[in-house]
Amino acid sequence: MATEKPTVGSLLLERQAAGRAGFSIEVLPPPRGKGPSRLRADMERMAKLGPLFVNITTHHSEPVFEQQPDGSLRKLFVRKRPGTVAVAAAIQQRYGIPTVPHIICNGFSREETEYVLIDLNFLGLRDLFLLRGDADKETLVPAHASHAHASDLIAQVNEFNAGRLLGAQAMEPPEQPFSFGVAGYPEKHAEAPNEDEDLRWLKRKVDLGAEYVITQLFYDNARFYRFRDRAVAAGINVPIVPGLKPLGRKAHLTVLPRVFGTVLPSELVERVEAADEADVRKVGAEWLLRQAEDLAANGAPCVHFYTLGAVDVVCQTVEELRRGGKL
Ligand code: FAD
Repeated sequence: MATEKPTVGSLLLERQAAGRAGFSIEVLPPPRGKGPSRLRADMERMAKLGPLFVNITTHHSEPVFEQQPDGSLRKLFVRKRPGTVAVAAAIQQRYGIPTVPHIICNGFSREETEYVLIDLNFLGLRDLFLLRGDADKETLVPAHASHAHASDLIAQVNEFNAGRLLGAQAMEPPEQPFSFGVAGYPEKHAEAPNEDEDLRWLKRKVDLGAEYVITQLFYDNARFYRFRDRAVAAGINVPIVPGLKPLGRKAHLTVLPRVFGTVLPSELVERVEAADEADVRKVGAEWLLRQAEDLAANGAPCVHFYTLGAVDVVCQTVEELRRGGKL
C-alpha cells in the first residue's frame, strides 16, 4: 500500500487553521518545439522559495494554417504547449513539491481524459485541477465528444475514483483517489448571466468534491473579499485561494479587462499611465506586493501566483513577503 500523501486541499486547510498563508505558483509547459531548459531554470529558482504546490496548465489544440506549394492553405490543429503530464511528473519527482496538472474539457474527448487519468494514477500524482478550458467553439478540434462543463469532468473523475471506467467497465480503483480543486471568479465568469448563477455552479463543483477553489486574477482585493463572503454565505466552505498576476505593460490596461473581465482600480490605472513603459513592471510589482500582503493578512490560506512572464517579480514578491514575516 502506498503511503498516504496529503492532498493540496488538506495542506490548505492546515494553513487556514494556522492562520498563516503559504504561496503557490502556476507554470505553463514549454511551447511546442522548445526544450525544458527555461522552465527548469525558472523552477530551480521558484522551488527554493518553498511553494505549497505547483499547478501546470493544459492547452487545447488550436488551428494553424500551413502554406502549400500551390499557395493554398492547409488547416492543421496543433497543441502549442503539450506536455502537462510529463512536466507535472518531472517537477514532483525532482523537487518533491505537490504538483497539480490541469485537466480541461474543451478539445479533449472523454476517452483521452481517461487515458490521462490512467497515466497520472501510474505516476502517483493525485492532485488535479479540473476546468472546462477556454476556447471559441470554432477553434476546437472538431467532432470531439468533450464534457460541456467542469462539473461533468468532475463526475468522470469521481467515477474513476470509484473504480469505474467509461462504459461502466470495472477497474481496480486507484490506491490514492484523485483529489481536486476548481476555478472561481471574483468578478464573475464572463458567460455567467449574474453572480448568483455563477456561485450556484461553483457550489455544485464543490458539492461534487472539489477541495478548494483558486480564483481568476484580479487587481482589487475588495472584489475578492466580497466574492469570498458571498461564497461562504452560499455554503461554499472550502479554502478559497486568490490568484494574482503582476501587471507588466501599459497594454495590460486594455488587455486584462478584455480577456479576463477584470476591473482595474483607478489608482493602479493612474500610476501605470503616469509611468514610462520601462517602469510599468515596477508599478505592477509594487501593486502585487501590496495585494499579496493584504490577502495574507486577511485570511487567505495561500496566495497563488500566475508566473507566465513574471518569474522575477514573483520571486522578489515572495522574498519580500518572507522578509516582512507575511508568509
Ligand atoms: P465551468 O465551471 O464549466 O463554468 C463555465 C461557465 O458555465 C460559468 O459561467 C459557469 O457559471 C457556468 N456553468 C458551470 N457549470 C455549469 C453547468 N453544469 N451547467 C450550466 N452552466 C454551468 N484554461 C485552460 O484552457 N487551461 C488551463 O490550464 C486553465 N487554467 C486555469 C486556472 C485557473 C486558476 C483559472 C481561474 C482559470 C483557468 N483556465 C484555464 C481558464 C478556464 O478554463 C476558463 O475560465 C473557462 O472559461 C471556464 O472554466 P471553468 O472550469 O470555470 O468552467
